[in-house]
Amino acid sequence: MREFIEKLQQIVGVENVKTDPDELERYSKDETSEIEHQTPLCVVFPTTAEEVSQIMKLANLYKVPVTPRGAGTGLSGGAVPIKGGIVLSLEKMNRIVEIDRENMVAVVEPGVITDEIQKLAEEYGLFYAGDPASSESSSIGGNVAENAGGVKVMKYGPTSHHILGLEVVLPTGEIVNFGGKVLKNVMGYDMVRLFVGSEGTLGIVTKIIVRLIPKPKYFATLLVPFDNVERAVLSVPKILSESGILPTSIELMDKQSALMASTFLSENIPHQDAECHLIIEVDGTDKDGLARTYINLGEKLQQMGALEVYIADNRYQRLKIWKFRKAIAEGIIAFRPRHCMEDVSVPIKEIPKLIMKTYEIAEENKLEVLNFGHVGDGNVHVTFLKPEQMSEQLWKENLEKALVDLYQTTAKLGGTITGEHGIGIKRKKYLSIFMSKNELDLMKKLKRIFDPNNVLNPGKVFD
Ligand SMILES: Cc1cc2nc3c(=O)[nH]c(=O)nc-3n(C[C@H](O)[C@H](O)[C@H](O)COP(=O)(O)OP(=O)(O)OC[C@H]3O[C@@H](n4cnc5c(N)ncnc54)[C@H](O)[C@@H]3O)c2cc1C
Repeated sequence: MREFIEKLQQIVGVENVKTDPDELERYSKDETSEIEHQTPLCVVFPTTAEEVSQIMKLANLYKVPVTPRGAGTGLSGGAVPIKGGIVLSLEKMNRIVEIDRENMVAVVEPGVITDEIQKLAEEYGLFYAGDPASSESSSIGGNVAENAGGVKVMKYGPTSHHILGLEVVLPTGEIVNFGGKVLKNVMGYDMVRLFVGSEGTLGIVTKIIVRLIPKPKYFATLLVPFDNVERAVLSVPKILSESGILPTSIELMDKQSALMASTFLSENIPHQDAECHLIIEVDGTDKDGLARTYINLGEKLQQMGALEVYIADNRYQRLKIWKFRKAIAEGIIAFRPRHCMEDVSVPIKEIPKLIMKTYEIAEENKLEVLNFGHVGDGNVHVTFLKPEQMSEQLWKENLEKALVDLYQTTAKLGGTITGEHGIGIKRKKYLSIFMSKNELDLMKKLKRIFDPNNVLNPGKVFD
């Protein structure tokens, strides 16, 4: 292996190959709580696609596994080097290559933090609509690999809707380009869509053409407490199908979720003790029209049992609400490390059934549960928590039963095991609840075509 490391050093320079234990420990994990850390052989930091290409050729020659990594905020273990080998960090490929205002695109390297793209686009009067709750820490390459969702998916779609073109280094080392600055492109198979969401198993993304849109001029965020979770979630499909309004976001946080965020931030929100809150955002280009929309929405919500409707129509108040919402996951990670954050997604009409069932599942298995997430697009982060007194053994056994019940319920409701966090290692053993053997086999065949030596992120999505 010494010879292998020396060859890596020749490709990227000695300073860009790390082997010291502290550094290896840092790159042995992501933000997924229940997954064991795995120490890699080394971490490499390429700075060009050409270097990535040479690394992949070398890895094939020596049959060494390579795990691509963005910012390590993943919630399914995708960046954990479960087979050892190299962690290939894209952190140093972090340039915004171009903002092309006339074509309304940005060309970026994968290591750019999502929030930087959002901010820079705004300076040009444009808008990057991808907005995972981790936008201040996740990388755009990781968003592409996971097809990240977030809080604006209802109106603007997940990451795949904002990606027009990709430069990718294939597992065998060839550099390919698909898509471009064009909005329409049916030249052969839609390879861009195939790479987006492939969880770093089909190629390493080294450049991304991101679609920007005109920035909506006005925004309003409604904070809506309810004294009953069922009543709150029943209002969601009603708002969507009956109001004639398409909000940017409809987010749910139940009482326990709000507690996590308020503890994390040392801040409270109005009606902190309500059973749950909905956060609804609307945007538009006409100030008066937008005001009519949110007043109309507020009246409907009160008819549906809301305790109050707080309207934030200035930037300061809106950001305060979103900061609170975005702190839930951080609060859980910080204060309840023994948790399992799920990511099931169902057709929106089924949201009430799914959420009410999670409380039953938790009770049957003597677990605590909290629910938060993107109810407006059907995606809920059901999170099971280990009660303090419960033994580790019982937690593992009961969690397993709870997960199988949750997944079977989701499948019966026509849903999917993951809406945005991906399969990674965390969910692969449950895929057969949702997919037939033929469907899984087709995916495995694709992987073999792209990666005949199985060196790129092996053991992720499936074995
Ligand atoms: C507090 C918190 C909130 C979150 N909120 C959301 C949310 O609202 N919506 C959401 O969708 N996710 C959310 N996430 C999950 C996570 O932030 C996303 O999955 C994000 O897209 C991961 O990006 P990353 O740069 O951290 O990728 P990493 O965790 O480093 O990697 C994720 C996967 O992508 C692969 N990968 C990374 N870069 C590349 C590349 N250039 N080429 C090929 N493969 C690559 C890795 O191999 C791995 O499989 C949240 C996470 C946290 C901790």
